[in-house]
Amino acid sequence: MVLGYLLARAGVQTVVLEKHKDFLRDFRGDTVHPSTLEVMAELGLLDEFLKLPHQQVRQLQGQIGESRVTVADFAHIPTRCKFIALMPQWHFLNFLAERAEQLPAFRLITEAEVTDVIWENGRVVGVKAKTFEIRASLVVGADGRHSTVRARAGLQVEDLGSAIDVLWMRLSRRPEDSAESLAYFNYGRVFVTLDRGDYWQCAFVIRKGELDDLRAKGIEGLRAQIVRITPMFGNRVQELESWDDIKLLTVRVDRLREWWRPGLLCIGDAAHAMSPLGGVGINLAVQDAVAAANLLAEPLRRGVYTGDDLNAVQCRRMFPTRFTQGLQVLAQERFIGAVLASGVSLRPPWQVQLFNRMKWLQRIPARVVGVGVRPEHVRTEPVALETRHTTRRGQAGGAVTNGAANEHAASSDVWVRRTSSE
Ligand SMILES: Cc1cc2nc3c(=O)[nH]c(=O)nc-3n(C[C@H](O)[C@H](O)[C@H](O)COP(=O)(O)OP(=O)(O)OC[C@H]3O[C@@H](n4cnc5c(N)ncnc54)[C@H](O)[C@@H]3O)c2cc1C
Repeated sequence: MVLGYLLARAGVQTVVLEKHKDFLRDFRGDTVHPSTLEVMAELGLLDEFLKLPHQQVRQLQGQIGESRVTVADFAHIPTRCKFIALMPQWHFLNFLAERAEQLPAFRLITEAEVTDVIWENGRVVGVKAKTFEIRASLVVGADGRHSTVRARAGLQVEDLGSAIDVLWMRLSRRPEDSAESLAYFNYGRVFVTLDRGDYWQCAFVIRKGELDDLRAKGIEGLRAQIVRITPMFGNRVQELESWDDIKLLTVRVDRLREWWRPGLLCIGDAAHAMSPLGGVGINLAVQDAVAAANLLAEPLRRGVYTGDDLNAVQCRRMFPTRFTQGLQVLAQERFIGAVLASGVSLRPPWQVQLFNRMKWLQRIPARVVGVGVRPEHVRTEPVALETRHTTRRGQAGGAVTNGAANEHAASSDVWVRRTSSE
């Protein structure tokens, strides 16, 4: 959606295909980091965006055993917003979709599940959805961690492995509760509570494959473990009535070796699924979109782009991806893994105590999590109003399969063809 918006804003005819009829999905990435808020500011959308209901996280804090520690403080990061905004992802996507639909070059088609890519002469020239085909000069696979586009294009995935999975759930928030979002570490468990206004969004971290054992002990077993780590939930843990109230996030950390083929580019989770540690998945996806728009909007507008242009996007974004995934895997193995294996009451390790005591050190993780490496800035210009008025659908160029297809540039050969009467 971000790439669709940026391309259409730059005058590139763009179609976004989304398989669902809306963006309403619970427990999907809800952390909008300072780097993404900076992008919204550069687009002139920040003030309106921040009017949407959200909560702000200004520090990353944990409770290790009996000790409360702060490991990151966003107060000093070089962005306008010194906080993570917690906001349901559908609000973020709807907000963008509403603005994008005001652009003549943008079109969103919902209930449009892409089932295959169309090849011609060794090049991807479009996608097949259930009831139509769409041709485009560029197809962008932005269809998430189970990407159909990347599978159908035969792109190879490098699996970095993950020893954890996460159970997501919600518990009500009461007026007497403290306001902080916290990560609790104790008794071999990690439990994260995110303040979402009238409820807590909670993540219960488990060892990969442990779910069956937990289920065998019944929902009461899970409730007891939650209360053991966070006694304050003793008076409401019954809200978790059954396993239907628990959503499993199977954690994957992977990335494509090559992000592109002639006529096709993958970005976001389709190019690299991230661990939930640091909640950076959305933000890397957004940064990919900004980089792709910066590098491709002009060639697409001119109607000429090459494999080198697509490769430039991969080259630019591979380092931040590798770096971030490297840190996540390290933290999963060394820290989370050690906590899950311990089973006893914990005390903060010396490294954490150091960060807690030396406030200036907290700027480092704040910067890594909040801004990341190689932050992207919007370099594309909005098309002039008169240009926009003369742009007709089908004249300029890409498809994003939520996935984006950019309708073919300049040569007016974007077309959508119905393939059944459904
Ligand atoms: C349970 C859960 C919790 C998470 N929590 C966080 C968090 O707190 N913070 C964070 O930063 N990240 C989190 N993530 C990860 C985050 O959601 C992703 O990293 C981020 O959304 C990636 O964006 P994306 O656009 O690449 O893919 P997605 O957000 O997955 O979007 C892909 C889109 O493509 C659509 N689609 C899929 N297949 C097709 C198809 N064949 N045809 C058409 N459309 C298709 C999907 O419906 C979806 O709308 C979480 C993920 C999960 C699953």
